Amino acid sequence: MITLHEVYEQGTEPVRQAVQAFGDRHPLTPADANAEPDWKTAEKHFTHLVEVIMGTAALRQPHPAGTIRRAENEAVQLLLTLNTVPNYRCPICVKQRRGPL
Ligand SMILES: [Zn+2]
Repeated sequence: MITLHEVYEQGTEPVRQAVQAFGDRHPLTPADANAEPDWKTAEKHFTHLVEVIMGTAALRQPHPAGTIRRAENEAVQLLLTLNTVPNYRCPICVKQRRGPL
């Protein structure tokens, strides 16, 4: 599966900006929005996004490379779309957050 870093390396300028913005949603110090991005978490959440797009049913059976590639492309499209929303929150972070902030 493609990594967020590879998406950045292979991406066009808008894709790179979207990847950077996604990283910025995961500050190393959660209280400080201007903190350095926590790329390990961002990578994990990007992988999770691809898996969600592929669907849990698809994960239970062997899938052709094309299925994965399509899901990866859709995940990149999603990052691009999210990046048009000011101050969006990472859907995986939102999903994993339990209780009040
Ligand atoms: Zn996240």
